Amino acid sequence: MRIQLNKAHYPVTALGPGRRIGIWTQGCSIHCPGCVSLDTWKPDPGRAIDIDELIVWCRRVSAGAPEGITISGGEPFDQARALGYLLQALQRWRKASGSSFDILCYSGYRLEKLQKAHPMLLARLDALICDPYVEALPTERCWRGSHNQRLVALTALGRERYAAHIEDAPEGEPKRFQVVADGERIWLVGIPHRGDLGRIEAACAERGLTLAATSWRA
Ligand code: SF4
Repeated sequence: MRIQLNKAHYPVTALGPGRRIGIWTQGCSIHCPGCVSLDTWKPDPGRAIDIDELIVWCRRVSAGAPEGITISGGEPFDQARALGYLLQALQRWRKASGSSFDILCYSGYRLEKLQKAHPMLLARLDALICDPYVEALPTERCWRGSHNQRLVALTALGRERYAAHIEDAPEGEPKRFQVVADGERIWLVGIPHRGDLGRIEAACAERGLTLAATSWRA
C-alpha cells in the first residue's frame, strides 16, 4: 500500500508532546482560506511511497523509541485506505516493541463527519485535532491553527497526554516553531500565530535572505 507524502521528519517537538515523528501527507481537498500549507493541496502520485518502507524509516530515525507520531497534511483522511494501513502498521509496531508512543492525527474535516465516515480510523488514533482552519479566529490554542479547532482525546493514552491541553490556559504549552533546512528548502514545523510568517520573511530579508517561494502564497 502506498501513501502520497509531502514530507516526514524526526524529531518534531512543536506538534504534540515529546519528541515525535512527523508525517505530512500530500493532497488536501478542503482548501481553507488562509491555509499556510498550499504546497500540500495538490495530490501528486509522484510523491507516493510504500508505507512499509515509511515504517522502516520511522523505526530507524527514532531508534525505535519515538514519544509520539503526528500525522498531518495535506488532509490525511483524503487518503483513507492508505491512512488505515499506516495506522495499523504503527499500532503493530507499538505493540511488538512494547513502546508507548501516542498517535495524533490532524484533519480539516469536522469531528462529526469523521465519526460518521471513518469510525474505524478514529478507533486507531489516540488523539485528533480536527475542524477547518478559520482565518478570522484567534490562533492562541496550542498545537491548533484557529480557535474553533478541537483537540479530542480518543483513548486512555490520549487522555493522559492531551487532557491538559484541550482547554488551553494562557500559561499552557507555548506555541513554537522548529526550523528544518533541507537543501534549498527551509521548513517551519509548527502552527504560527497570525502574522508570524510575514515577520519571519521580513527578518530573513533584513539579513539578506530572500525567500524565492513560500508555502503560504500561491
Ligand atoms: S489548513 Fe489543513 S485542512 Fe485546511 S486547507 Fe490547509 S492543509 Fe487543508
